Amino acid sequence: MAIVETLELAGGRRVLRLQSPVDGSPIGEFPCADPDEVAAAIRAARAAQPAWAALDVRQRAAIVLRARDLVVERQDEIVATVMRETGKSLQDTLSMEIFASLDFMSYYAKRAAKMLAPTKVGLHGMMAMIKKLTVTYRPMGVVGVITPWNAPFVLGINPTTQALLAGNAVILKGSEVTPSASLLVADIYRQAGLAEGLLQVLTGDGRTGAALVEGGVNKISFTGSVPTGRRIGEACGRQLIPCTLELGGTDAMIVCDDVDVNMAADGVLIGSYMNCGQYCCGTQRVLALAGVYDDLVKSVADKAATLRQGAKLGGDEDVGAVIWDKQVTIIERHVHDAVAKGARLLVGGKRSQALGGLYFEPTVLVDCTSDMLVMREETFGPVVAIQKVKDEEEAIRLANAAECGLTGNVWSGDPNRAWRLAMRMEAGSVMINDMAVTYGLPEAPFGGVKASGVGRVNGTDGLRGYCQSVPVITNRFKMKTLPAAYPYGIQKVATLRKTIRFLWASGLGRWFQ
Ligand code: NAD
Repeated sequence: MAIVETLELAGGRRVLRLQSPVDGSPIGEFPCADPDEVAAAIRAARAAQPAWAALDVRQRAAIVLRARDLVVERQDEIVATVMRETGKSLQDTLSMEIFASLDFMSYYAKRAAKMLAPTKVGLHGMMAMIKKLTVTYRPMGVVGVITPWNAPFVLGINPTTQALLAGNAVILKGSEVTPSASLLVADIYRQAGLAEGLLQVLTGDGRTGAALVEGGVNKISFTGSVPTGRRIGEACGRQLIPCTLELGGTDAMIVCDDVDVNMAADGVLIGSYMNCGQYCCGTQRVLALAGVYDDLVKSVADKAATLRQGAKLGGDEDVGAVIWDKQVTIIERHVHDAVAKGARLLVGGKRSQALGGLYFEPTVLVDCTSDMLVMREETFGPVVAIQKVKDEEEAIRLANAAECGLTGNVWSGDPNRAWRLAMRMEAGSVMINDMAVTYGLPEAPFGGVKASGVGRVNGTDGLRGYCQSVPVITNRFKMKTLPAAYPYGIQKVATLRKTIRFLWASGLGRWFQ
């Protein structure tokens, strides 16, 4: 079953034809925006943006709050659209797409005026006596937001909301397999009163995304895979435009031998199966210390065997569908590779025979080793992979051996031990006794280290990341002469030398630093 087919029509027009991963039913056809349409969208955005930027932040926030109310009002429609397009379970859809979106919209709308207000910054040293510094935040202009398919509504509406609040116009390019979720983001903002041109959605695939990146926007906010992130980073570097790259991961969970096994087993399952394992910061590699290994394996396998799958269960469905057929191929390859290299398959391991659509059974692989694909490359599916490690040192060494480093989690009954290990994990954020919750906390700067990305989103810095930070320097007092004015001369050089000696050679400098 192909979730997306690209049709080449006469005249070079390309169209995406989509099917639902739930049951293969047709979803519809969506045009791929070509470079001319991308350019037209950028022109319209540029024309609309100055009037929007001229509004007070509170006026922009009022539109965001109206849009938030519409998300509450239209939640059933959003849930139905996202579930049909992605096959997520109802609970995953409500928590990841609706709850998180509402929380982000409220958080930024209520705080944006403060976060974006000019900020006075105290100067140090001698300049503090004569100068004042205020940092101002100006919109960048037109921001391109490019998103993946695994959380298509929230990953569209969160960066879009922040970029709009900062006074930018936005062009949103959602994934080729989840265009309706992106179109809903724009429709909600249109209904909330956002003027035409300020938020436009382009449907299409990577070619449309590439045209947007090359189209002359002022910033790219990208969420997606490592290979695409590299390409976009290169293109932005060449054009000297800023970008944030939120990329994939193979996140590790370290389980110590003093842990509450029952709770850690719940953490393994929700970490590896939430959103059917298609969660950028889900748990991929469970590294369990030898002292807890057998108990953890048993508890995880027992619990995994009870999980329910299938859209017909409604709210009782634990694990949903795999969103994209190309992902099922990767999951199967990783599971087969692990078994061939000696992993024991305790639960699942294959496509569901009972359910139509793209369902892969929740799977538990144990006795995994570092040479297996499932411990090295992103699986992005409902697979628990557990490896036994002899001690903390081995756990940290293996956790940090990965190419990526998005998030990590440490489980222990001893808070000091957990903190110590967490501090040594090479990851963009670390959780203690919980799975990846960072993205859901708008205060927390979110992003990866190593191949997991560049830059941080969310929080005050994330919102300001949609602005140019422009420092404005003023004089403390009315001055009659400019201290640095020409002519230079031997007298001024001598005074400068004396000042340098006075400040730093005498040790007095410590009062001025
Ligand atoms: P992808 O990189 O294939 O595609 C992401 C988006 O980029 C899509 O809209 C796609 O059409 C577009 N695109 C593809 N090629 C492009 C190009 N050359 N130029 C511009 N745009 C292009 O990723 P995906 O398969 O849709 O998403 C899954 C990946 O996203 C996983 O690796 C997952 O870990 C990652 N992800 C990361 C985060 C995070 O916050 N770090 C969140 C969710 C998903």
